[in-house]
Amino acid sequence: MSIYYHSTRGGEKGVTAAEAILKGIADDGGLFVPMTFPKLDKSLDELKNMTYQETAYYIMSKFYTDFEEQELKECIEKAYDEKFDTEVIAPINNKVGVSFIELFHGPTIAFKDMALSILPHLMKTSAKKLNISKEIVVLTATSGDTGKAALEGFANVEGTKIIVFFPENGVSEIQKRQMVTQVGANTHVIGIDGNFDDAQRGVKEMLTDDNFIKKINENNYMFSSANSINIGRLVPQIVYYFYTYGQMLKSGEITAGDKINVVVPTGNFGNILAAYYGKKMGLPIDKLICASNQNNVLVDFFNTGVYDRNREFVLTISPSMDILISSNLERLIFEITGEDADKTRSFMESLKETGKYEITEDMKARLVDFYGGFATEEETAAAVKNVFEEAQYLLDTHTAVAYSVYKEYAQKTEDKTKTAVASTASPFKFTTSVMKAVDEKYSSFDDFQLLNEMEKLSGVSIPKGIKDIDKKPVLHKTICKKEEMKKAVEAFLNI
Ligand SMILES: *Cc1c(COP(=O)(O)O)cnc(C)c1O
Repeated sequence: MSIYYHSTRGGEKGVTAAEAILKGIADDGGLFVPMTFPKLDKSLDELKNMTYQETAYYIMSKFYTDFEEQELKECIEKAYDEKFDTEVIAPINNKVGVSFIELFHGPTIAFKDMALSILPHLMKTSAKKLNISKEIVVLTATSGDTGKAALEGFANVEGTKIIVFFPENGVSEIQKRQMVTQVGANTHVIGIDGNFDDAQRGVKEMLTDDNFIKKINENNYMFSSANSINIGRLVPQIVYYFYTYGQMLKSGEITAGDKINVVVPTGNFGNILAAYYGKKMGLPIDKLICASNQNNVLVDFFNTGVYDRNREFVLTISPSMDILISSNLERLIFEITGEDADKTRSFMESLKETGKYEITEDMKARLVDFYGGFATEEETAAAVKNVFEEAQYLLDTHTAVAYSVYKEYAQKTEDKTKTAVASTASPFKFTTSVMKAVDEKYSSFDDFQLLNEMEKLSGVSIPKGIKDIDKKPVLHKTICKKEEMKKAVEAFLNI
């Protein structure tokens, strides 16, 4: 069965996967979603003997039906290879009563690698399929982890350029260092004097600015986006939920048909939406537990049906989740309106104009599978410390938010369902916050010294992606005002 995509705002229909992947965002500002959902057509038991790559082919071939088998297999092979420090790509680690899905074994040690290691290949293949000869310019806003993963994925990929905007004061030292030391002549990294939402808004505006797009096209460029709104990122993220289920079957944690809960530390709502799409396809997921940090817009949304971004933006120790506008939520809104593009558009317009919207009771009733909770800074740090003391296993701060929310959920509901927690970053990416949570004595060390201390404490070697990162030369020094992002792009492209 062929799958086509349409915009959540009604402007486009019947779009192929290749077109949707290349465009990133629809012309009307909406997000592409599949017009029909493929269904699981293997028995659940078959999942347990599939490798990560096989699972990836199984899932992606169902969504990217315009790709030839060989094309897709090549993309998968190039993406999930020795860049990952383990053959299994996403190991499942059973500790402290839950199954941690370790999604941080890629080159940039955060879960963004799961999708961004394949996106450049999907884009290149899409351009070839559509006979497009323009150079692809990928614009990306990052709260820290997407940027590096996108840079790493696109660096030196022929026919592409990548420009990353990050909040100059809103990422960890190691995240920043990872980005500004990026090599590759087609890469460009810019700090902005705003937060992640400002960066994301600026990028979205450029991607939907007709005059600017015209100018870009006349110069033989075309824009695309590597943000999690791209369907080329969302689908690869569905894969690991199927893979996890297979691995939980294999280890005897569950038997085929058992439901599991998933807990996802959430920012832009991409990762948890992928789990929800997995559930729609027939994966036995019970509750989708959406974990936020102190920027808890989503928790209020799930509890009250009101999405309200008018609040203080808090910088936390889980910076990749410091977001007040979760872009991918638009796809869920579209879903719970019964795929009503007009309604979806008016909610999104209201969000843009007033910073808020309220969904109807009917829509709210369709959110029963979701549970929203948040962890304070203290609770996050306590989760890191407790898990380490109990199991000598170091969580990063984002995963700690998820674990803390899960503990509260389990206590409140007495739900005993087996639970998988998306482990979204290596603790080595957030050394200061993690080590301080374990022991105050580490407060006086800097991020880079702490890499060695963490290696000693955890018995895990420093991942090669960040080894000696403090000795690498800084190659990107551009900083711009949030109003000047467009100018910065023009300067880099020399147009
Ligand atoms: C991006 C990120 C998240 C949030 O994921 P979303 O898909 O944006 O909800 C959580 N943790 C880490 C470490 C991340 O990099």
